[in-house]
Amino acid sequence: MRSVDEHLAAILSSLTPAASQTVSLAESLGLVVAGDVVARVDLPGFDNSSMDGYAVQSVSLAGAAARPVTLSLVGEVAAGDAPTVSVGKGEAVRIMTGAPMPEGADAVIAVEDTDGAATGSVECRAEAPVGRFVRRRGEDVAAGSVVVRAGDVVGPRTVALLAASGHATVDVVPRPHVVVLSTGAELVEPGQPLGPGQIHDSNSSMLWAAATRAGATAEIRSAVGDTDEELLAVVDEVVGVADAVVTSGGVSMGAYDVVKSALRSEGVDFVQVAMQPGKPQGFGFLAGPGGRAVPLFALPGNPVSSYVSFEVFVRPALRRLMGHADPVRPTRRAVLTSGLRSVAGRRQLARAVVTTGADGTLVAEPVAGQGSHFVADLSRANALLVIAEDTTEVGAGEVVDAILLDD
Ligand code: AMP
Ligand code: MG
Repeated sequence: MRSVDEHLAAILSSLTPAASQTVSLAESLGLVVAGDVVARVDLPGFDNSSMDGYAVQSVSLAGAAARPVTLSLVGEVAAGDAPTVSVGKGEAVRIMTGAPMPEGADAVIAVEDTDGAATGSVECRAEAPVGRFVRRRGEDVAAGSVVVRAGDVVGPRTVALLAASGHATVDVVPRPHVVVLSTGAELVEPGQPLGPGQIHDSNSSMLWAAATRAGATAEIRSAVGDTDEELLAVVDEVVGVADAVVTSGGVSMGAYDVVKSALRSEGVDFVQVAMQPGKPQGFGFLAGPGGRAVPLFALPGNPVSSYVSFEVFVRPALRRLMGHADPVRPTRRAVLTSGLRSVAGRRQLARAVVTTGADGTLVAEPVAGQGSHFVADLSRANALLVIAEDTTEVGAGEVVDAILLDD
């Protein structure tokens, strides 16, 4: 049997990030930046006022805190205006937040410290040291300097900086397109009536959602029955559109385990991984059009096994394709509320509800149903507890590693 770490390492080492693409800022959220980005402009782009008030020469207001000083108003400048007047001693220009500083002015007095006049003259009741309420050109970013680095993940603050520094697009590692394909003669689409022995296909929706949440785009193909011909026909079709294929079901030891029987000769390796749930795993590359190698993950069919397998192997793989430097979720330490048993020689990934206790420590309550068919308990859980291969029992109050699933 392969260890979880060996199987994950084998997957990750076989994958490289996709070639970069230029996308609009609106399409860039969550993606990894492919190359350093340099500011096209200074930020701020020009000296401007940080207040609504009056642009003045600082010397004009010497002593104004003790005895108000009246300045003559020689103009007005609003955000978006190019100033046409300059400010001399004893003069003021009415100015709005973000408006360029007029020539001659070296400070702004806030409107709150004046009588607020719009024309004629303005009475000022405070001093304004040089630079007061002036945002200096380039004090935030100098044109030509690196604002966003290769490897950064685009977030709301990144797009703000890119837009402000003159960029409408950014080079990123694109999202892989995942095709989800469930197998099983018993499967019926959600919402359709069930005949004897039939169940609703829940893995397709689950894997679609998990792939989408991981940052990929994803689509669901109708589930296929348990014959090699059916599966191979669909696989043949999807390698043309998929950057990765995720199948569920048909990988264990049963008589109708179609994925294993059909894809073994197509370049997919089927292995036993020392974990619970999720022991049977398939991974390999399908030959796509134009010599493209399309990774295929064959996950077990039990919903919990399928989900855990996705989290442990497929999510990191998708994140690697997307260029994330560390594609694996971090683990956190959490205190168990009740004990757990674990099979010797297998890494258990137990489902749990993790909450933050009063003192800030994480508390993990294993869900009741740890069998691989407990969909409701899986749905309630927000974490996987990692019980090491050589551990057979952990007690209440012990600290375990937890992988939080909803970050
Ligand atoms: P298999 O790995 O194909 O032997 O399936 C193992 C178990 O998971 C069986 O009980 C299947 O009915 C169930 N199962 C397989 N595929 C799905 C699916 N797409 N949605 C829900 N349950 C499934
Ligand atoms: Mg099956």
